[in-house]
Amino acid sequence: MTDKPFNPFKMAQQQFDSVAEKLGLDESTRELLRNPLREYHFLIPVKMDDGSVKVFQGFRVQHNDARGPCKGGTRFHPHETADTVKALATWMTWKCAVVDIPLGGGKGGVVCDPHHLSEREQEGICRGWIRQIARNIGPVQDVPAPDVMTSPQHMLWMMDEYEAIHNGRYPGVITGKPVGSGGSLGRKEATGYGLIYTVREALREMGVDIKKTTASFQGFGNVAQFAGKLYTEYGGTIIAVSCWDQDDQTSYTFRRTSGVHVEELLTITNRFGGIDKEKAKNLGYEVLSGDAWIEQEVDILLPCALENQINANTAPNISSKVIMIGEGANGPSTPEADEIIKQKGIFMIPDFLANAGGVTCSYFEQVQCNMNYFWTKDEVLSKLDTKMTEAFLQVSAMAREKKVYMRDAAYLISIQRVAQACKLRGWI
Ligand code: NAD
Repeated sequence: MTDKPFNPFKMAQQQFDSVAEKLGLDESTRELLRNPLREYHFLIPVKMDDGSVKVFQGFRVQHNDARGPCKGGTRFHPHETADTVKALATWMTWKCAVVDIPLGGGKGGVVCDPHHLSEREQEGICRGWIRQIARNIGPVQDVPAPDVMTSPQHMLWMMDEYEAIHNGRYPGVITGKPVGSGGSLGRKEATGYGLIYTVREALREMGVDIKKTTASFQGFGNVAQFAGKLYTEYGGTIIAVSCWDQDDQTSYTFRRTSGVHVEELLTITNRFGGIDKEKAKNLGYEVLSGDAWIEQEVDILLPCALENQINANTAPNISSKVIMIGEGANGPSTPEADEIIKQKGIFMIPDFLANAGGVTCSYFEQVQCNMNYFWTKDEVLSKLDTKMTEAFLQVSAMAREKKVYMRDAAYLISIQRVAQACKLRGWI
């Protein structure tokens, strides 16, 4: 049991340190890679609809750019902290490296709650965030993207502000833009689909028919919705989905043992991925506590909401039926939980591999923007499938070869690639 306050950056460093030890990395490489290269903290004054001015806190962290420009989302969240952003930027470095795309790791954030902000106020935050960081990002420096509670519209406002400041057209400055305004087809599907491509491959290696499997999701936002769609298209059955209830300020799990119909559930889901309780009851869902998603007797658990959800307190509640965890969210499992998951013999598809579909498609978006030629959705998704499948197979081969946990195998591959890039550049 652990009651220490959760610090995602400490966790990212802890994960790194253990792999650095296994790889026998020298001291200077360790020091360089366990910390961000650059970290920006700034204030964003925004004129609110009532005429007052509110000052928001913003961040951008560039963890490492030895393999290419930094890449990573910008989150709007009331509990955003500098350490969360640092952890997420670090994981982006490993994520880009594990799928072998020529990008580094970055992440941004603003402490705010879009639930309580008008469209105009959100536009003010987006433009203000860019004004503070415009000199330090760009197509060849650092390329932001959407993340929790930021959307293609937010990205377009950000691009527009950047272009106004730099007096030119720079569609490659930001990804996750709306289709038709420099966005790529398939981007909204990419993270969820990418997750399920890896789940499909893992089940194939285990000799398990996906059609005979059941799953429980935490979250019903962008990642979970598309993961749920593809998983059910492949024939899997979703038993439960949990999400945050803004009115009650708590989370609930929606369970229907006959199976969740994703399209139907979407009709009663708001734009923040929150499900309407009363309407769900009418559709035959049981409404359980927020933690119930992890206790379900299913084959696959798919945490697709927040970090620190599978921890020393919750991991013991995982059913003995579970054979696999696919981490759609960033950092959903703590190192303490990893130990319990290993003891239970559950196959883990770690976050920075499982959810790399989003950044891979963002990379495709950059490539298309640079060529000024856009691919069809099928072309994008088939390239994504190839990249995710290749990455999964490399990591699982490494895990078998070195007899290590999948998270360690993914780290071994990515840290080695980044350390090598730093070495070749003569940095270390
Ligand atoms: P989102 O904002 O669209 O959805 C988040 C979902 O989580 C919502 O359904 C919300 O109700 C739910 N949620 C929030 N708090 C919860 C709680 N305490 N209990 C249960 N449910 C809760 O976000 P998203 O884009 O789907 O991202 C989800 C996770 O995936 C994040 O960790 C994000 O960093 C990660 N991720 C997203 C992408 C992407 O392309 N969107 C890419 C890589 C990783």
